[in-house]
Amino acid sequence: MGGIEALLREEFKKEGFNWKCLGERCPCNCCAGFDNSLYSSITYLPNGSIPLTEKDVERMKDVLEIYTVQDKYGFYYMKMDENGRCCALDENGKCKIYEIRPTSCRAYPFFVDKYAMLAIDKKCPGVGKGMTEWEEIEEMIKAAIEVYEFVLKKIKIIMLKEEVKNA
Ligand code: SF4
Ligand code: SF4
Repeated sequence: MGGIEALLREEFKKEGFNWKCLGERCPCNCCAGFDNSLYSSITYLPNGSIPLTEKDVERMKDVLEIYTVQDKYGFYYMKMDENGRCCALDENGKCKIYEIRPTSCRAYPFFVDKYAMLAIDKKCPGVGKGMTEWEEIEEMIKAAIEVYEFVLKKIKIIMLKEEVKNA
């Protein structure tokens, strides 16, 4: 491990991290009722939603038709209802595709903001509710970085497609 992850490991080892998922006690499940602003800010999308990376698409290939939508450039996103509830969330508040869920979901509440870099969504009620060791959050941060790298790649592809269209 190197770069940003090595730096973060040192920081978190020193200070720990004051976040703990409240699970079933959470009053505001992160899979429903969010306004998508977080995802809009990192996905370059006017409508927002949870983006699927190329690896997510491969992993979810058998359920894409049920749970996802595609934009005009061919990128996939989780389907949301009008209240911002993910269509993979069952009536008991459990993810129906938990084992193959998108990388953004694996990262949450961490994300990489295009201006602030590594950030945590403060709307998550688990922020400030308990210490979590580096080992537990390492995978989440790696997932956040993976999403960010995918988003950068996606922006380049979109710009290229637009250039070709306008040429
Ligand atoms: S919003 Fe935060 S505390 Fe609540 S379920 Fe999601 S990650 Fe856990
Ligand atoms: S895919 Fe699963 S974990 Fe992700 S937002 Fe939907 S229900 Fe939640």
